[in-house]
Amino acid sequence: MVNGIRDQPPLPEKEIKSLFPYFPPRSLFDIEVASTSCGRKIRGKYIETFITPDSLISIGHAKDNLKRVCDAARVSIRNHIPITTLGGFTSIFLEGDLDLLPVHDCGKFTSGNTLTAALIVKGVIDGCNLLNVNIGQSQLLILGATGDLGSACAHYFKGKVSKLHFVARNQKRLAMFCDQFNGYDFAASCNAAELIPDADIIIAVTSSSEVRLDNVKTGAIIVDAGYPKSLSAASLPKEAKLFYGGMGIVKAGYTSIPDYHRYFYNFPLPFIAHGCVLEAMVLAFDNRPESYSSGRGNIRKEKMDEILDIAYKHGIERAPFYNDKGLWPV
Ligand code: NDP
Repeated sequence: MVNGIRDQPPLPEKEIKSLFPYFPPRSLFDIEVASTSCGRKIRGKYIETFITPDSLISIGHAKDNLKRVCDAARVSIRNHIPITTLGGFTSIFLEGDLDLLPVHDCGKFTSGNTLTAALIVKGVIDGCNLLNVNIGQSQLLILGATGDLGSACAHYFKGKVSKLHFVARNQKRLAMFCDQFNGYDFAASCNAAELIPDADIIIAVTSSSEVRLDNVKTGAIIVDAGYPKSLSAASLPKEAKLFYGGMGIVKAGYTSIPDYHRYFYNFPLPFIAHGCVLEAMVLAFDNRPESYSSGRGNIRKEKMDEILDIAYKHGIERAPFYNDKGLWPV
């Protein structure tokens, strides 16, 4: 991004990282997006917090990160933006607690996680259909089950798969989470290696880059919806079917003004975007500037179904299956 703006040869990653803390949160570009349903175009702003994945997980950066999120929210409030989505890092940091944002009386905030979760489960269902996998007879493992996306997926698939497997590191939180699944067949562990060999479908929604998948079942469907990605096709057995989930595609396209888009993401098709970003667009198209997703662990099937229906109505659909090697089949 820094390189894109300067139009100079790429800076080494180390140098970019050292510069990051000096950038205050600010709007980097405008984005214009069209709906296929009403033909309407909306214009929004991309506000960058300049929080890096490294500083997200570092306790020492907690105070600075919170300030950055609040300063980014102030940029949105100052610009009178009716609906703002927090995006992956920001929502993890706040744990979806919108009350931590500056007090204001204009504009709503949403974490963007309901549409993300809906796109993840749609990917699982469509992937199973495509590969002739019987979802009702499948065992589903969720890495990061106690998180906002993980718990949404767990509740969605409750009673729809033959067994659920939950993995997270914090044992106490995992045990409390499991209490919500009494009466269903499930297993839970802080050690993913214990459960991975049984799983036909794996959803990875950790906010960690330390994920390793060893002894994956032959032909398992694996969804990585984390950002940054924790998994690559090369790190998995050849027969494993990996796709990057929680992503959507805007049928009528979008443009960034100025055109910095190519400096940001390297998707295999144009007009792919993260579900969290798309949630704000969907709500804006539908004239519903509301805090659709807030808090951690509150996302339920009804709202996932609703936001996905609204998204499809406006031509925002699940992105085609792809991973780091490109579009399926790869
Ligand atoms: P949360 O912080 O709410 O949840 C993260 C979960 O992962 C928790 O259950 C956490 O539990 C667990 N976890 C973290 N590290 C590990 C590990 N090494 N091994 C096992 N479990 C782990 O995050 P969200 O649910 O909001 O987001 C999850 C991911 O999805 C993030 O990477 C985020 O950036 C990405 N995201 C993607 C979006 C998209 O549009 N595709 C949109 C929003 C988010 P514990 O700490 O106990 O281990």
